[in-house]
Amino acid sequence: MQSQRTIRRSISCAGIGLHSGNKVTLSLKPAPADSGVRFRRSDLGGLEVAASAEHVGGINYATGLTRDAVRVDTVEHLMAALVSLGIDNVIVELNSPEVPIMDGSAAPFIYLIQEAGVKPLSAARRYLKVLRPMSLTRGDKRIAIYPSDHFKVTYSIAYDHPMLRHQSRTIRLSEEIFVEEIAPARTFTFLNEVERLRQQGLALGGSLENAIVIGDTGILNNALRFDDEFVRHKILDVIGDMALIGHPMIGHLVAHRGGHALHTAFAAQVLAQTDAWTLVDGVPETVDTPRTVPAVARVS
Ligand SMILES: [Zn+2]
Repeated sequence: MQSQRTIRRSISCAGIGLHSGNKVTLSLKPAPADSGVRFRRSDLGGLEVAASAEHVGGINYATGLTRDAVRVDTVEHLMAALVSLGIDNVIVELNSPEVPIMDGSAAPFIYLIQEAGVKPLSAARRYLKVLRPMSLTRGDKRIAIYPSDHFKVTYSIAYDHPMLRHQSRTIRLSEEIFVEEIAPARTFTFLNEVERLRQQGLALGGSLENAIVIGDTGILNNALRFDDEFVRHKILDVIGDMALIGHPMIGHLVAHRGGHALHTAFAAQVLAQTDAWTLVDGVPETVDTPRTVPAVARVS
């Protein structure tokens, strides 16, 4: 039986919010079984919002959660790291409304979790196993999930730019594959969008240190981490957004030209379609057992 997990000890890091530009300290703290991922605002006296699709609000080039007076933005990269490393329960404490962007990928959060260590809990992990297909289409954007014995993601993107006419990738997820193939992929933006974002008060913390910037003839950064880093980052985003379901999934997720609004609307739809899935305890025979990757490994 695969048990739920939390982290072994509290750990912190500091960075800036991509959109707010605010300095922020993030701490991960151990939490008991069945408590899930909870974001806590220390600057608001410890008010919390659970990482759940029901609390999604304010999608502005990133995924935000709100409940009453509490708001936390840009949760998706951290959520992807937590679900992919099998951290079911944790408190994420912030002293500002936005999760730090770090280097624009999930690799720094992987490093943080590995440094904290993993602690098994006595309760069984519950997976959401897809029984029949579900889908959501908005214009030319589409996302769907199909029954499968494994958690797999297929993503395709298409932009009106010579570098990004089409990229597509299918990946069968395990802890190790996420750490090596997906977590290091950075967020990206187009140079001609940066000014527009800033006029809206967004991307104020953005720089070549935390985003790939695509100009007319190529990227402004020195190098890509993968030839298809862009579609890999979209896979990272959708894993993080779908983690708001609150259970790791067993199914094949397929998305075309999605974004946070589509991903999170679909997460809410999946939760509502209770006849299309079932919760199963532990790890069925066909699901890879997550392995612990050595600390300090593979963070490039
Ligand atoms: Zn992202």
